[in-house]
Formats: sequence, structure tokens, C-alpha cells
Amino acid sequence: MTPARHTAPESDAAIRVKALESLLAEKGLIDPKALDALVDTYESKIGPRNGAKVVARAWVDPAYKQRLLSDATAAIKEFGFSGLQGEDMVVVENTDAVHNVVVCTLCSCYPWPTLGLPPVWYKSAPYRARVVSDPRGVLKEFGTELPDSVEVRTWDTTAEVRYLVLPQRPADTDGLSEDELAALVTRDSMIGVTQLPAPATGQEHGA
Ligand code: FE
Repeated sequence: MTPARHTAPESDAAIRVKALESLLAEKGLIDPKALDALVDTYESKIGPRNGAKVVARAWVDPAYKQRLLSDATAAIKEFGFSGLQGEDMVVVENTDAVHNVVVCTLCSCYPWPTLGLPPVWYKSAPYRARVVSDPRGVLKEFGTELPDSVEVRTWDTTAEVRYLVLPQRPADTDGLSEDELAALVTRDSMIGVTQLPAPATGQEHGA
């Protein structure tokens, strides 16, 4: 048996899915590229839009932010986002003094209701090991350079808890609506490997 509520890497089901995919592609019944595009959509486009709405609300509504930081599961459920891999949520806030980054060192646990499917790198052994031993080095590879004065906290998903990072609101966004703010929030910023640039300085890739 795998540990409770961690998703085991390369489960029997995953192996069967891979076998089916190869067979279907071989017979010309599916196009692997179309399948990749579909997975990418859930990884980086549809899935994380839920988390982005939560983040934008926290930026504009201090009472909501308070609820989010004290009981994230309930506050996220206000949007109707709940269920598998989102039952016990904790939101950690980035500030000028603290930067948070999330990992599951054991496997690939991830808050599905707010972020969708985990990206491949999140599940990779190098990320899982190195973000613990050398978080600043890993962040640098994502283009995130933090001054020494900023404390980096790495949060390792446990059997129960799923973490979501509340990124800092980008500069120069005072006039934006909640929806416009949500559009700026990227998946990677909610995992904590990137920060959000001011809109004028350009969009982050992979959003
Ligand atoms: Fe896990």
C-alpha cells in the first residue's frame, strides 16, 4: 500500500494508461501531440485559473485574505473549489521578508481543485530533492532571484496537507479589477517558483 493520500508514482493505472496511449497512437487512433496539448491545457491553463481567482480575491478583499490564511479549505470552498487533493488546504503568503515554495518530496501531491494537474517538473526527482537542499538555486533556474534578506521557506506536502502560495500582488496594479488581477496570476507563482512581474514589464511565460 502507498502512504495514505499521497499519489504513488508509476502506479499500475499510470502504466496501463501509458500502454493504452502507445497502442492507440500506434494504430493511428490518437495523435500524441493532440493529447499533449490537452494535458498542457489542464496543467497550465484551465486548472490554475481557479487558484488565480482565490489569489485575486485575497488581494482585493482583506477580510477574505484573513479567512484564507486562517482556514484555507473553507475560504477556497467559498468559490466552490473543493474535493480530491484539496480537502486540507494551507495557504502561505509571500511578503517582502518571506518567500514560500511548495514541493512533495515523497511523490507528487498537488492541490488539484485550485491548480489542476501538476507539471512534469514538479513530479521530477531532481526538483523534489533539490528544492529542499538548495531552494535558492532551484528558484534561480526559474528566473527568481531573491535578495539574501528574504527568507525562503520550503513547504513539503504531507499525507494530509496541500499548500498554495499566495504570491505578492504585482506593482502598478492599483487600477485593475479582480478579474484583471486574476489574469496576471500564474500557476508557477502559486507553486512559489516564480514571482509576478508588474504588468507593464511583460507577462511571465508558462502562465
Ligand atoms: Fe505526495
